[in-house]
Amino acid sequence: MNKKILVTGGAGYIGTHTCIALHAAGYDIVVYDNLSNSSREAINRVSSLIGQSIDFIEGDIRDAESLKQVFSSHHFFGVIHFAGLKAVGESVAQPLKYYDNNVSGTITLLEVMSEYDVKNLVFSSSATVYGDPERLPIDENSPRSCTNPYGQSKLTVEHILEDLAVSDASWNLIPLRYFNPVGAHPSGQIGEDPNDIPNNLMPYISQVAVGKLEKLSIFGNDYPTTDGTGVRDFIHVTDLAQGHVAALNYLQQQASSKSSSGTTSSVGFLPINLGSGKGTSVLDLVAAFTKVSKQPIPYQFAARRAGDIASCYASAGRAKGLLKWQAELSITDMCQDTWRWQSMNPNGYNAT
Ligand code: NAD
Ligand code: UDP
Repeated sequence: MNKKILVTGGAGYIGTHTCIALHAAGYDIVVYDNLSNSSREAINRVSSLIGQSIDFIEGDIRDAESLKQVFSSHHFFGVIHFAGLKAVGESVAQPLKYYDNNVSGTITLLEVMSEYDVKNLVFSSSATVYGDPERLPIDENSPRSCTNPYGQSKLTVEHILEDLAVSDASWNLIPLRYFNPVGAHPSGQIGEDPNDIPNNLMPYISQVAVGKLEKLSIFGNDYPTTDGTGVRDFIHVTDLAQGHVAALNYLQQQASSKSSSGTTSSVGFLPINLGSGKGTSVLDLVAAFTKVSKQPIPYQFAARRAGDIASCYASAGRAKGLLKWQAELSITDMCQDTWRWQSMNPNGYNAT
């Protein structure tokens, strides 16, 4: 079976961790990234962790000619498509930038894949497509709706993938709906490196712990949750990376059973949640991080953040049943690995 995979956005936070997991699982990877939210240093560190140089191409997914060059030089089994912009606030301020990058970019990628008859795709979707969930835990058949352009861009791509699967049964399309990815590689060499002041909880906490930020604001303490703060399903990024390997393994099995049995059935459009299935509150996460880092994490309660929901956690049964995957690492592991990365690299990849 052909094990060559194109990884768009492979220089980013989730992409780098997934490249390591793919390499360990015997996949042969080519990374394609425009470095708009990442650095060559991240690629260098992945290369040193896997003990061989990563095949890296600097390019934009909106650039069809550049993609065609890549597809004509390599014979891919499939694509893992991480490339995208992800800042909710920025998407509200600059919606066209988000639709262009995330939606038009994905259409260009799909067109080139189709031209080169590469029909296996794993796409980075998000639990944000569930909006404010009607019931918990959230399963893949829950209604979808979004309230901001970032979420809309993910949901629009999902709709495009669904339509594509209906139009042509040879596509195998797995959107993985991530819950809240956190943590870092246990080596402390790679991790999340936000450009600016972090929007997300875990990098904010870790920057308070390391002394870069003064105090955490906890957005809301009057939610209908156990302690009044928001509840999320945190998932260690290395577990998430394994989820991508499991999705690709599944596509490989489907392709091999299809070719050996001569059947024509395909995967079609198959969304899968990647979460732990457990809810953790903001205060629980602060307490766990304080314990692990042995640093004070001053906080104050502040107003609810616009657009936030009270609770969000996954039903992870489909991933377990179909992909034989489940999250293994604990909240303590997530805090330990985040803290190691943060304290070894207080200024992220730019530190010298
Ligand atoms: P990231 O910003 O670290 O990685 C994305 C990578 O894509 C970056 O390296 C960036 O340079 C690259 N990129 C962006 N636009 C591109 C383009 N037009 N052409 C080529 N490369 C491009 O983000 P991440 O946290 O690793 O997220 C990866 C994917 O997962 C994104 O699509 C994101 O929306 C999605 N996602 C992330 C989270 C999260 O909390 N991190 C949650 C749900 C979904
Ligand atoms: N949060 C917070 N302070 C921050 C950042 C986040 O209290 O500085 C809360 C937020 O209100 C939510 C939870 O932490 O309840 C997770 O937020 P994050 O942005 O990490 O993820 P998302 O809201 O996208 O699930």
